[in-house]
Amino acid sequence: MRSTGPYHAAMILVVEDEPGIVDFVERGLRRQGLEVISAGDGETGLDRALEPDVELVVLDLMLPKLSGQDVLRHLNTQRPELPVILLTARGEVEDRIAGLDGGAVDYLVKPFAVGELAARIRAQLRTASRGTTTIRTESMRIDLVSRQVLVDDRPVRLSTTEFELLVYLAQHRPHVLSREEILRAVWGYSHDPGTNVLEVYIGYLRRKLRTPARPAPITTVRSVGYRFDEEAS
Ligand code: CA
Repeated sequence: MRSTGPYHAAMILVVEDEPGIVDFVERGLRRQGLEVISAGDGETGLDRALEPDVELVVLDLMLPKLSGQDVLRHLNTQRPELPVILLTARGEVEDRIAGLDGGAVDYLVKPFAVGELAARIRAQLRTASRGTTTIRTESMRIDLVSRQVLVDDRPVRLSTTEFELLVYLAQHRPHVLSREEILRAVWGYSHDPGTNVLEVYIGYLRRKLRTPARPAPITTVRSVGYRFDEEAS
Protein backbone atom coordinates (compact mmCIF):
# COMPACT_ATOMS: atom_id res chain seq x y z
CA MET A 1 0.00 0.00 0.00
CA ARG A 2 1.36 3.41 -0.93
CA SER A 3 1.01 6.46 1.21
CA THR A 4 -1.64 8.81 -0.06
CA GLY A 5 -0.36 11.68 2.05
CA PRO A 6 1.75 14.61 0.92
CA TYR A 7 5.00 12.69 1.54
CA HIS A 8 6.49 10.00 -0.65
CA ALA A 9 6.57 6.52 0.90
CA ALA A 10 9.90 6.33 2.69
CA MET A 11 11.97 3.17 2.21
CA ILE A 12 12.70 1.48 5.55
CA LEU A 13 15.25 -1.32 5.93
CA VAL A 14 14.60 -3.84 8.71
CA VAL A 15 17.71 -5.84 9.72
CA GLU A 16 16.52 -8.69 11.93
CA ASP A 17 17.17 -12.42 11.96
CA GLU A 18 13.93 -13.60 13.59
CA PRO A 19 11.48 -14.24 10.73
CA GLY A 20 8.45 -13.77 12.99
CA ILE A 21 9.51 -10.26 13.95
CA VAL A 22 10.45 -9.34 10.36
CA ASP A 23 7.03 -10.46 9.17
CA PHE A 24 5.20 -8.57 11.92
CA VAL A 25 7.22 -5.38 11.38
CA GLU A 26 6.98 -5.50 7.58
CA ARG A 27 3.23 -5.93 7.60
CA GLY A 28 2.71 -3.32 10.30
CA LEU A 29 4.85 -0.66 8.64
CA ARG A 30 3.31 -1.27 5.20
CA ARG A 31 -0.11 -0.78 6.72
CA GLN A 32 1.20 2.62 7.86
CA GLY A 33 2.15 3.54 4.31
CA LEU A 34 5.88 2.87 4.57
CA GLU A 35 7.86 0.81 2.07
CA VAL A 36 9.87 -1.94 3.73
CA ILE A 37 12.76 -4.17 2.72
CA SER A 38 14.55 -6.55 5.06
CA ALA A 39 17.81 -8.37 5.64
CA GLY A 40 18.32 -11.40 7.88
CA ASP A 41 21.95 -10.89 8.88
CA GLY A 42 24.36 -8.03 9.57
CA GLU A 43 26.40 -8.37 6.38
CA THR A 44 23.40 -8.26 4.07
CA GLY A 45 21.93 -5.51 6.23
CA LEU A 46 25.00 -3.30 5.82
CA ASP A 47 25.01 -3.86 2.03
CA ARG A 48 21.38 -2.92 1.71
CA ALA A 49 21.71 0.06 4.07
CA LEU A 50 24.22 1.56 1.65
CA GLU A 51 21.63 1.54 -1.14
CA PRO A 52 20.67 5.18 -1.65
CA ASP A 53 16.89 4.48 -1.60
CA VAL A 54 17.01 3.40 2.05
CA GLU A 55 16.03 6.33 4.28
CA LEU A 56 16.03 4.72 7.73
CA VAL A 57 17.27 1.47 9.26
CA VAL A 58 15.58 -0.56 12.01
CA LEU A 59 18.49 -2.59 13.35
CA ASP A 60 18.47 -5.59 15.67
CA LEU A 61 21.61 -5.77 17.82
CA MET A 62 22.05 -9.56 17.99
CA LEU A 63 22.58 -10.64 14.39
CA PRO A 64 24.46 -13.41 12.61
CA LYS A 65 27.62 -12.65 10.54
CA LEU A 66 28.03 -9.02 11.63
CA SER A 67 26.59 -7.67 14.91
CA GLY A 68 24.25 -4.70 15.02
CA GLN A 69 27.02 -2.71 16.74
CA ASP A 70 29.38 -3.42 13.85
CA VAL A 71 26.75 -2.51 11.27
CA LEU A 72 26.16 0.76 13.13
CA ARG A 73 29.87 1.53 13.26
CA HIS A 74 30.27 1.05 9.50
CA LEU A 75 27.16 3.12 8.76
CA ASN A 76 28.51 5.87 10.96
CA THR A 77 31.42 6.39 8.62
CA GLN A 78 29.85 5.35 5.33
CA ARG A 79 26.39 6.94 5.60
CA PRO A 80 26.50 9.13 8.71
CA GLU A 81 23.26 10.92 7.80
CA LEU A 82 21.18 7.70 7.76
CA PRO A 83 19.00 7.41 10.89
CA VAL A 84 19.16 4.07 12.72
CA ILE A 85 16.64 2.84 15.30
CA LEU A 86 17.85 -0.10 17.40
CA LEU A 87 15.79 -3.10 18.42
CA THR A 88 17.08 -4.61 21.64
CA ALA A 89 16.15 -7.27 24.13
CA ARG A 90 15.11 -6.14 27.59
CA GLY A 91 18.44 -6.92 29.27
CA GLU A 92 20.72 -5.21 26.78
CA VAL A 93 21.10 -1.92 28.66
CA GLU A 94 24.84 -1.67 28.02
CA ASP A 95 24.26 -2.34 24.34
CA ARG A 96 21.61 0.35 24.14
CA ILE A 97 23.96 2.89 25.70
CA ALA A 98 26.76 1.84 23.34
CA GLY A 99 24.32 2.02 20.44
CA LEU A 100 23.11 5.52 21.23
CA ASP A 101 26.69 6.65 21.85
CA GLY A 102 27.59 4.97 18.58
CA GLY A 103 25.20 7.09 16.55
CA ALA A 104 21.79 5.37 16.73
CA VAL A 105 18.98 7.94 16.99
CA ASP A 106 16.52 5.88 19.04
CA TYR A 107 15.76 2.38 20.30
CA LEU A 108 12.84 0.13 21.09
CA VAL A 109 12.84 -2.74 23.56
CA LYS A 110 11.27 -6.02 22.43
CA PRO A 111 8.41 -6.77 22.56
CA PHE A 112 7.08 -3.53 21.09
CA ALA A 113 3.93 -2.35 19.35
CA VAL A 114 4.49 -1.82 15.65
CA GLY A 115 2.43 1.37 15.84
CA GLU A 116 4.99 2.81 18.22
CA LEU A 117 7.82 1.82 15.90
CA ALA A 118 6.01 3.52 13.00
CA ALA A 119 5.52 6.69 15.08
CA ARG A 120 9.22 6.79 15.99
CA ILE A 121 10.18 6.23 12.36
CA ARG A 122 7.99 9.13 11.24
CA ALA A 123 9.50 11.36 13.94
CA GLN A 124 13.02 10.50 12.77
CA LEU A 125 12.17 11.03 9.10
CA ARG A 126 10.86 14.50 9.94
CA THR A 127 14.08 15.31 11.78
CA ALA A 128 16.21 13.86 8.98
CA SER A 129 14.46 15.94 6.34
CA ARG A 130 15.28 19.06 8.35
CA GLY A 131 18.75 17.82 9.19
CA THR A 132 21.92 18.91 7.58
CA THR A 133 23.84 16.89 5.05
CA THR A 134 26.68 19.40 5.00
CA ILE A 135 29.35 20.15 7.57
CA ARG A 136 30.48 23.77 7.37
CA THR A 137 33.42 25.13 9.27
CA GLU A 138 35.45 28.34 8.90
CA SER A 139 37.40 27.17 5.87
CA MET A 140 35.66 23.97 4.92
CA ARG A 141 32.45 22.69 3.42
CA ILE A 142 31.95 18.93 3.45
CA ASP A 143 28.94 17.59 1.53
CA LEU A 144 28.08 14.20 3.00
CA VAL A 145 25.83 13.24 0.10
CA SER A 146 27.92 14.21 -2.93
CA ARG A 147 31.10 13.61 -0.87
CA GLN A 148 32.54 16.86 -2.16
CA VAL A 149 34.98 18.84 -0.03
CA LEU A 150 35.68 22.54 -0.50
CA VAL A 151 38.50 24.37 1.29
CA ASP A 152 38.15 28.14 0.94
CA ASP A 153 35.73 27.39 -1.91
CA ARG A 154 38.34 25.33 -3.73
CA PRO A 155 37.42 21.65 -4.38
CA VAL A 156 39.77 19.08 -2.88
CA ARG A 157 39.85 15.51 -4.17
CA LEU A 158 40.02 12.93 -1.41
CA SER A 159 40.17 9.14 -1.54
CA THR A 160 37.35 7.21 0.13
CA THR A 161 39.44 6.57 3.25
CA GLU A 162 40.64 10.17 3.44
CA PHE A 163 37.05 11.38 3.16
CA GLU A 164 35.81 9.03 5.89
CA LEU A 165 38.64 10.05 8.17
CA LEU A 166 37.91 13.75 7.63
CA VAL A 167 34.16 13.31 8.22
CA TYR A 168 34.77 11.30 11.39
CA LEU A 169 37.10 13.96 12.80
CA ALA A 170 34.88 16.88 11.70
CA GLN A 171 31.69 15.33 13.06
CA HIS A 172 33.23 14.80 16.47
CA ARG A 173 34.81 18.22 16.84
CA PRO A 174 35.78 19.62 19.29
CA HIS A 175 36.50 16.26 20.94
CA VAL A 176 39.89 14.63 20.83
CA LEU A 177 39.57 11.20 19.22
CA SER A 178 41.92 8.44 20.28
CA ARG A 179 43.89 6.36 17.78
CA GLU A 180 41.80 3.35 18.80
CA GLU A 181 38.51 5.16 18.18
CA ILE A 182 39.61 6.38 14.77
CA LEU A 183 41.05 3.02 13.69
CA ARG A 184 37.84 1.31 14.75
CA ALA A 185 35.48 3.79 13.11
CA VAL A 186 37.31 4.34 9.83
CA TRP A 187 39.22 1.09 9.27
CA GLY A 188 37.06 -1.30 11.30
CA TYR A 189 40.02 -2.49 13.41
CA SER A 190 38.99 -3.86 16.80
CA HIS A 191 42.55 -3.38 18.10
CA ASP A 192 45.49 -1.18 17.20
CA PRO A 193 47.14 -2.94 14.24
CA GLY A 194 50.54 -1.61 15.30
CA THR A 195 51.10 0.09 11.96
CA ASN A 196 51.34 3.78 11.13
CA VAL A 197 48.40 3.67 8.70
CA LEU A 198 46.55 6.36 10.67
CA GLU A 199 49.57 8.70 10.79
CA VAL A 200 50.08 8.20 7.05
CA TYR A 201 46.47 9.16 6.27
CA ILE A 202 46.55 12.13 8.65
CA GLY A 203 49.59 13.26 6.68
CA TYR A 204 47.74 12.88 3.35
CA LEU A 205 44.79 14.86 4.70
CA ARG A 206 46.95 17.66 6.08
CA ARG A 207 48.74 18.08 2.76
CA LYS A 208 45.48 18.17 0.82
CA LEU A 209 43.56 20.44 3.21
CA ARG A 210 46.17 23.08 3.92
CA THR A 211 46.17 26.34 2.00
CA PRO A 212 48.83 29.03 1.57
CA ALA A 213 46.93 30.98 4.22
CA ARG A 214 46.63 28.28 6.90
CA PRO A 215 47.53 24.76 7.90
CA ALA A 216 44.95 21.94 7.85
CA PRO A 217 42.74 22.11 10.96
CA ILE A 218 43.82 18.73 12.29
CA THR A 219 45.75 18.90 15.55
CA THR A 220 47.82 16.11 17.05
CA VAL A 221 47.14 15.71 20.77
CA ARG A 222 50.27 14.03 22.06
CA SER A 223 49.88 10.44 23.28
CA VAL A 224 46.10 10.69 22.84
CA GLY A 225 45.03 11.16 19.25
CA TYR A 226 43.69 13.87 16.97
CA ARG A 227 41.22 16.73 16.98
CA PHE A 228 39.52 18.69 14.22
CA ASP A 229 40.19 22.30 15.13
CA GLU A 230 37.76 24.63 13.46
CA GLU A 231 34.49 26.10 14.59
CA ALA A 232 31.26 25.52 12.72
CA SER A 233 30.30 28.46 10.55
CA1 CA B 1 18.41 -11.17 16.73
